Amino acid sequence: MYFEDVRQWQGTAEALTKELKRQIEQIGLSVEPPALRTVRSWRAKQLLSQPKGQEFGFRQILEGLATILFLKKGWTIAAIAQVLPSFTEATLEGQIIAEAESQDPKTTFLPLPTEHQQAIDLGEDAVILLAQGILRQYTRVLQGREIVRQEDSMPVELYQAMCKLGRLYIEAGLNDEAACVHTVLDRARYSLKSDHWKLEIFRQPNFRFSDVTFIDPDLRVPTSDCSEIANLSGAFGEDNVIEHRLYTELREATERLGGRRQHKAYTAIRELFGRYSLIGERQLLDYLVDNDLTPLQGMIIEKFFDPVPDIWLINGLAHRCAYCSTLMRPEKGFPQGRCPIRQCNSCNSPKVSEKLDPSQDSLLIAKPQILTYWTGPAIDELAIFDTARQQGFSAELYPESDLSDVAINERVIGIDAKSYTSPVSLALRLNRSIGGLIHYRRRILAVSDQLIEDNPNYLSTLKSTLDKKGDPATLEVMSVSSVIDFVS
Ligand SMILES: [Zn+2]
Repeated sequence: MYFEDVRQWQGTAEALTKELKRQIEQIGLSVEPPALRTVRSWRAKQLLSQPKGQEFGFRQILEGLATILFLKKGWTIAAIAQVLPSFTEATLEGQIIAEAESQDPKTTFLPLPTEHQQAIDLGEDAVILLAQGILRQYTRVLQGREIVRQEDSMPVELYQAMCKLGRLYIEAGLNDEAACVHTVLDRARYSLKSDHWKLEIFRQPNFRFSDVTFIDPDLRVPTSDCSEIANLSGAFGEDNVIEHRLYTELREATERLGGRRQHKAYTAIRELFGRYSLIGERQLLDYLVDNDLTPLQGMIIEKFFDPVPDIWLINGLAHRCAYCSTLMRPEKGFPQGRCPIRQCNSCNSPKVSEKLDPSQDSLLIAKPQILTYWTGPAIDELAIFDTARQQGFSAELYPESDLSDVAINERVIGIDAKSYTSPVSLALRLNRSIGGLIHYRRRILAVSDQLIEDNPNYLSTLKSTLDKKGDPATLEVMSVSSVIDFVS
């Protein structure tokens, strides 16, 4: 095995220069090892993601080797700096070894990394949805309610999985072989890397589900892998699956920054989606520089934002919601546009704070799943945090990479804001686990005022459904406005 002796490696720039030379010889790469001066310049250009003043580690060995291989392929330093942070260590390792083992000059190192990664992401989403769809379908068949039919009654997850699989086939230059539910379910009896699926992407070393079979070929029931994968995202459905993947990617990317920087980066990125879900590219770059996040620049722009499409402009301008700062969308009967965020209290009286000209700065809007799962809930979270700060409390937003939404005086008070529409499903969720709040002396659950307005029994239903013993019993449940009064 390669790299086994250096996984815990740490050292200076000089030591890294020596180590790169040693690795190149050991793995047998036909490239020139870099000089110390070159290694230092790579750090300055952030190809090596180690923060100033800290020792280099295993990831920097991989980054160094990958950089050498990219340069050999004719990539520019800027292009390399863009893509390197988006690769996991496992991907880098797999590709470096593949490069060493293949003497074929035609194979390219990390071919078209962006597209490749997008296909892997699409494949993972498809696989998780397929697992969910199969489980749902199976439950229905078990209940004797129906047989498998390709029509409206098909589980929505199965349908979403088929759409994504179809895209994978077409992008691979094949016919769409996922259009028929029977074919897809038939294939689910074989592992994803098998010839039955015909998809090269499922056989890639960095595709983590290659060995999975969804349905037991003999017994015709979903395998335990299937239910494991179906539950990976915590909840069913396309948006949940995508949100969960983005969350995991954000956690991994910030973890790579290491140490204290990791938590600060996590908070800064979540705050970015809360306060600036509509943002100009230049303004975004400033934000990333100010928050020491430039190594993640490529990943943030590519994974979490979309360019603002022309159809969402009003008279050529992007309208910003005065309440939550996101992009308002054109809608009949609303000449200024309408805010799409459910938790934003702008629905009755939309108000524009700013009109942005896309010819001045290219405009970006957070992806729909980010708007739904992070920007919307952030309205209450930021309101609590901002008030606490103004009142002079020592408050932290999303501390320790999401231990709570707002923490006051370190671990003294932890606050989670919740906007579940159903108090019962919120209680059931909390009965399973109260999450990071467990680490706080006082554990406060803040429920959106709008939900209480819509359902005056919300808090009493929630309290009555929460377990009366154990951790759920320690929660203090109140409305967001009471929490704000409490910190005022
Ligand atoms: Zn709004």
